[in-house]
Amino acid sequence: MGVSPLPPWPQEELAALSSEALHKAALERVDEAWQRCLEVYPTLPRPGVWFDLKGASAGQAHMGRGGLRFNPILLDDNRAAFFDDVIPHEMAHWLVFHLDNARRFKPHGREWQTVMRDLFGLPARVTHCFDVHKAQPAPYLYRCGCRTHALTPRRHALVSKGRRYRCRHCRKSLVHTPDGTG
Ligand SMILES: [Zn+2]
Ligand SMILES: [Zn+2]
Repeated sequence: MGVSPLPPWPQEELAALSSEALHKAALERVDEAWQRCLEVYPTLPRPGVWFDLKGASAGQAHMGRGGLRFNPILLDDNRAAFFDDVIPHEMAHWLVFHLDNARRFKPHGREWQTVMRDLFGLPARVTHCFDVHKAQPAPYLYRCGCRTHALTPRRHALVSKGRRYRCRHCRKSLVHTPDGTG
């Protein structure tokens, strides 16, 4: 298990990037963080990435969408902080969300802290010069015939009222797995 942080991104290079190039570099950084997660969780899905978060939050692991959202304005103003801390922070949520029993874990609880410290070699801080985000609870995990699906609380509530979702890949109905068994 790697305990040194991801290699620092050259500061001058980072400062000089256009917005478009900055987003491209951020995607590479997300990929580096994801590759590191694969060392301990080889089947962790690759997250989608969007730069569409607004307001005071820097980032968000969004299970309903299947990826990570980042705030492009805060990214632009806090480039090094994003590359050093915010991206690994959100990737740590992404990893923990996929663990068995994820719904029993607090968003910034022991499991998330362990990933930050022991996988990314970072202090497990939740405060920063800006809000990293409002932490979200873990998703509801469902299974089909081929994979695990993460449903938002809203969709989960619809299922409990009788709504059915099917897997796009294997066409089987999704079944809730409260303890993430298997
Ligand atoms: Zn967080
Ligand atoms: Zn399936």
